Amino acid sequence: MTSAKERAESLIVEIPDYPTPGVVFKDLTPVFANHDAMTFVFDACATHFADSRLTAIAGIEARGFIFGAALAGHMGLGFVPIRKAGKLPRQTFRVDYSLEYGTDSVEIHTDALRSSDNVLLVDDVLATGGTATAAAQLIEHCNAHVSGLAVLLNLSFLGGERRFRDKFPATDVFTVFGDN
Ligand code: AMP
Repeated sequence: MTSAKERAESLIVEIPDYPTPGVVFKDLTPVFANHDAMTFVFDACATHFADSRLTAIAGIEARGFIFGAALAGHMGLGFVPIRKAGKLPRQTFRVDYSLEYGTDSVEIHTDALRSSDNVLLVDDVLATGGTATAAAQLIEHCNAHVSGLAVLLNLSFLGGERRFRDKFPATDVFTVFGDN
């Protein structure tokens, strides 16, 4: 008998050499499309963070919106979007970060969170960790606390978790399907 976790994980599709040669892209859209799989994902996150006194979930554009907004509904919490630069209409904090080639930027509304907030940051995949670290810095700019980081997959060979923990040692990092 396969477990709910094994059934959900089996839905992930690997696409070699996408979007560039040498990258194995993890396509999680079949997981998002499957109600049983998402129920497993939500229950795993809700159980893991049950004692974290979370007050909000922040999701990173774009796949972190799909997972994060639905998880927020499941956990009875509000959802805060962290977006690519230039997409949010009001005053924002912005963090620039390095990619393998070039830089990228993420933003959050300055009034999206309060100092009393305990935030769970979510995204689909943790790769080099640059995006998650920049997003966590945005939450800190709002004076809120980054209680946890939840991802579906951690590509541990890229070192992102280590880089994230170097900057946010007190944050509880949870990978739903374990390390790849
Ligand atoms: P990074 O900043 O390198 O940790 O990259 C994380 C972001 O890029 C996440 O928002 C992921 O959605 C996406 N990403 C990076 N590598 C992959 C991959 N191999 N498969 C799917 N998504 C990826």
